[in-house]
Amino acid sequence: MDAPFRWFTPLQRWLLPWRCLLCGDDGADGIDLCTGCADEMPRNTPCCERCALPLPVSAPLCGRCQRKAPPWDSAWAPFRYAWPLDRLETRFKFGRDLAAGRALATLWRHATPPSALPQLIVPVPLHPRRLRERGYNQAWELARPLARALRIPCDIDALQRVRNTDAQTGLDAPARRRNLRDAFVLREGIVLPAHVAILDDVFTTGATLAECARVLKRAGVARVDVWALARAPAKS
Ligand SMILES: [Zn+2]
Ligand SMILES: [Zn+2]
Repeated sequence: MDAPFRWFTPLQRWLLPWRCLLCGDDGADGIDLCTGCADEMPRNTPCCERCALPLPVSAPLCGRCQRKAPPWDSAWAPFRYAWPLDRLETRFKFGRDLAAGRALATLWRHATPPSALPQLIVPVPLHPRRLRERGYNQAWELARPLARALRIPCDIDALQRVRNTDAQTGLDAPARRRNLRDAFVLREGIVLPAHVAILDDVFTTGATLAECARVLKRAGVARVDVWALARAPAKS
């Protein structure tokens, strides 16, 4: 159990009971979700070992990774971006619902981590203007509790977003990549370990994560993993 929950006395638990954010039932201990709704969260198995793409049957690599390896070494996305996780994520990301974010962070913390853990977690940054508008960075909110639980340092400003790229929605893959070129830089003078994980909330096309991975690889990081809470299915 994470540290803040230990401070809860039985009285506080009685006054502030956990409530399921999806159905309103009593929450399970330590999370604003009931066991039924938590069990409905779509687990991402089987999936591609390299990019975590959901696969209909077990196979080491998806077709795309077989044709062209992505610029990172391995991916971890314990959930699929589907109902009902997508409802919580939308509330968290666009509805300023930080309780939904805490529930998502708890789900992630309880997932089985990869056996080879990175030495540093670097969340995908928002452009400062976007951060001011939203008030929080959803990747930070997920990265910090996960990093604490795994006892891995988390550097929230290792990467900086220097270009405010337009929303990526609606762009095809080459356009997304062009749009993201030179969007990220590393903090000046930063010393990075040999194994780093870049963390985002949702892995959609992977264009943002790929661009961040390229920046880290160019800086000499030997192994770059990409971590996301949830992986979107392939577009047909
Ligand atoms: Zn529920
Ligand atoms: Zn793949």
